[in-house]
Amino acid sequence: MKKIVVFLFVVFAVVFCFAEELYIYSVSDMKLFDRVQNACKRNIELGDKLLLLGGKNLISTLNINGLRIKGEKLEGNLYLAMSKDGDVLKYLGKSVKIHSVYGPYAVFSAELKVLESLLDKQNYQFKIVRLKGGTVVATQRVEIKAGISNPVIKSYIEKLDRDYMKNQLQHLINYQTRYSFMPQDKKLAEDMKSIFSEFGYQTEIKEFTCYKGKSYNIEAVKKGTSGKRIYLVGHVDSTSRKPKVLAPGGDDNGSGSVGVIAIARLIKDIKLKHDIIFTLFMGEEQGILGSNAYVQDLNNTDDILAVINMDMISFRKNLKYTFILESETFAKPFVLKMAEICKTYTWLKPEIHYRAWGSDHVPFLKKKIPTVLTIEKEYDINPNYHQVTDDMRDIDFEYMHEIIKLNLATVLDYSL
Ligand SMILES: [Zn+2]
Repeated sequence: MKKIVVFLFVVFAVVFCFAEELYIYSVSDMKLFDRVQNACKRNIELGDKLLLLGGKNLISTLNINGLRIKGEKLEGNLYLAMSKDGDVLKYLGKSVKIHSVYGPYAVFSAELKVLESLLDKQNYQFKIVRLKGGTVVATQRVEIKAGISNPVIKSYIEKLDRDYMKNQLQHLINYQTRYSFMPQDKKLAEDMKSIFSEFGYQTEIKEFTCYKGKSYNIEAVKKGTSGKRIYLVGHVDSTSRKPKVLAPGGDDNGSGSVGVIAIARLIKDIKLKHDIIFTLFMGEEQGILGSNAYVQDLNNTDDILAVINMDMISFRKNLKYTFILESETFAKPFVLKMAEICKTYTWLKPEIHYRAWGSDHVPFLKKKIPTVLTIEKEYDINPNYHQVTDDMRDIDFEYMHEIIKLNLATVLDYSL
């Protein structure tokens, strides 16, 4: 026994002494991404950068013309920080080594001690995961050919009524606040129920209780014949710095709620194969509490073909065409299908993110249900995010309309 212990000790000591120091390299010439990805399996795709992990001489061993970059030494392990709450760097402080930043993501390395203090800061707005090579966090390279356009789908998406959407959004903003677990939750739920009921759907207010108290999700069902289901979801609650008094929640998430309602209105009289279920969640802003409760109650999820979540779909600043499809890699076929539909029926340019978190798509994905979040690209620089100013002022109806068109076309493509 003693001998084994000594032997192991020696092995560890040798490994420790000769362990290669790890460096990270950042390739920014996108034309080289394919070649570099093939040559170096320990890569991480982060939007406009491809990060490589390896030793001091990695680049020369890859032998790729035109690739001349210097590495940065890692300080401990490599991690990805994600924020749905604006500037991701504000959470990280100066004690970690930042290697790359892309929108809401930051790649950094840190010693375990430093990391432990950061892990305590995690909440539903901020999260840290360990990073290894061979992953796509975000990709701009979505090369999908347009499919054959279906004239029926085309005629329906052209019928989406922008004035109706404007009025519905104004109606939601007029609530002043839709913060969850307040006495007025029930009134909001009944109001939403009446909207879906007027369309002729079987509609139900689903009460749920959690540590924050009691609130209500709203569910409307359009019956099909196949026994299979598609969900269109979004959260209707809102928040701000004064959530109990003023949280208009225009972009977050009046925009997505209106998307769910507008599609429900448009397809009410079409015969479709599958059940289409429209759900508005409460409690998202306190940690996806409504959708967690809702998904927990779903029995038999095998017949769910797809779930589309709309959360923040009406803000853009610099990037005219780009928006995000966010999911997990197991749902890649569904994500690519949506990218194709996007190209067939809209002018949107999708970017795909494979680190899903922070909104109502997550509980579905945890159950391995193919689910996609559609979200504006520049949410990390939206000045009204969780502010009392998230009202009509910066709503971009043209952009919002296009994302809703995509989601409508997806539902129809699956169910006609
Ligand atoms: Zn939201």
